[in-house]
Amino acid sequence: MQPIPELLFATHNLHKLREVTYILNGRAIVKSLAEHNITIDIPEDGDTLEANARQKAWFIYNLTGLDCFADDTGLEVDALGGRPGVYSARYAGEGCSFADNIKKLLTELQGVSDRRAQFRTVVALILGGKEYVFEGKVRGHLLELEAGEKGFGYDPLFVPEGYNLTFAQMDEALKNAISHRGEAFQKMANFLEFYRQID
Ligand code: IMP
Repeated sequence: MQPIPELLFATHNLHKLREVTYILNGRAIVKSLAEHNITIDIPEDGDTLEANARQKAWFIYNLTGLDCFADDTGLEVDALGGRPGVYSARYAGEGCSFADNIKKLLTELQGVSDRRAQFRTVVALILGGKEYVFEGKVRGHLLELEAGEKGFGYDPLFVPEGYNLTFAQMDEALKNAISHRGEAFQKMANFLEFYRQID
């Protein structure tokens, strides 16, 4: 059996780093870019979540030569034909805040009765120079007013199917157990366990 792999997470987002470290729950030793003194902006100019996740992971791999992974997430709204999708972070414009994005989304959905949406995450893992891709998603609907203080991004608007709380009203443990990122990284965790046994 191989030792637990050490993986560099290609993100500068500390919130994500904490969430993912928690989800992987010891199946990998997650290293931050800060621990490697990497402060450079990671390019992500693909037009799909998968292209961005792969681009970020290969960028960090080419820079460091270390096993690493990256993720990309989007909120896909049914009534908006899947927008903002890959543009979720800068939906209200370059350099906008989470609050700006929420405001823009609520404006676009004013008077729209179909509130269905999903979060989708794609993870690209580079391990031993090979690429592996995992996906997770969670369906739900969007409220007309924000509720809750936890989480980040669009969490105060999103109610996952089967619950009547937004992600921003849930404990981190519950969000991670049912979320898009939770599912994608759980798949990666299962793969890592399998990989350690067969390699
Ligand atoms: P990223 O690819 O994970 O950086 O996500 C892109 C954007 O999607 C973020 O800037 C957030 O606006 C939004 N987002 C990603 N994950 C979540 C989440 O778990 N809850 C709410 N919004 C999220």
